[in-house]
Amino acid sequence: MRADLHVHSDASDGTDPPAEVMRRAARAGLDVVALTDHDTTAGHAQARQALPAPLTLVPGMELSCRLGQHSRGQHSLHLLAYLFDPDDAELAAETRRIRDDRVLRARAMVDRLIDLGVRITWDDVAAIAGAGVVGRPHIARAMAASGAIASPDQAFTPDWIADGGRAYVDRYALDPARAIGLVRAAGGVAVLAHPRANRDLLVTDTQIAGLTAAGLAGVEVFHPDQPEAEQAGLLGLTRDLGLIATGGSDDHGRLTGHRIGSYTAAADAYERLIAQATGSRPVRGG
Ligand SMILES: [Zn+2]
Ligand SMILES: [Zn+2]
Repeated sequence: MRADLHVHSDASDGTDPPAEVMRRAARAGLDVVALTDHDTTAGHAQARQALPAPLTLVPGMELSCRLGQHSRGQHSLHLLAYLFDPDDAELAAETRRIRDDRVLRARAMVDRLIDLGVRITWDDVAAIAGAGVVGRPHIARAMAASGAIASPDQAFTPDWIADGGRAYVDRYALDPARAIGLVRAAGGVAVLAHPRANRDLLVTDTQIAGLTAAGLAGVEVFHPDQPEAEQAGLLGLTRDLGLIATGGSDDHGRLTGHRIGSYTAAADAYERLIAQATGSRPVRGG
């Protein structure tokens, strides 16, 4: 059984509509795919409708969190939430707050870039984001289109919009322990996303143990940005702490090179995950 538990669509910062993501998941030979857009469930309905048999969809979300009270935004942390009740009022209110702030923050970053001489406008960025949740990848694409940089990945440096960069602006984010509490209260299962990916704060073993005490169910071990040695270390840690070791491709469509299905979770990890969920159930296609 192959389960890719971390995939984005254009409901957040992926390049493909949810229906296309589901078709790609089926073509990649997956049995299970989780749609985990940033701070939104807006893609779920379309994914559900387009779901081909025998693919199973796990409705999910990737929540923006921040560890500790730091002003420079170096300590962002992502939490994967699965199978929560999509109508849970408190979780929905928090994700709305994060999304609203994303727009304010993206506008502030565009203003800073303009001050730095980059010839982009807010309209350029908004047009690229379309109906999706606006984020740094959209700004990066606008920068590349303006000729300020040769390709979007060059935006993620200290000169531009990397964490702490010249044009970087911090945003509203949830405390991870609170986010775990919200997900659980909504009947969902919380998994720490890519804690040792190069681009992020490296979440320590002690911090992961602390989040486990707060109700964390699992850790994303198998992820393309996580070096093999880190994956091995994390796998041992999940065994020690009784956590589920999950995996996913973090596919963003064209932006990451289509890589859906390239990283997956084991069958028993998937079974343990769905066994803990009470907020909603996986959806079978066809
Ligand atoms: Zn992430
Ligand atoms: Zn992601």
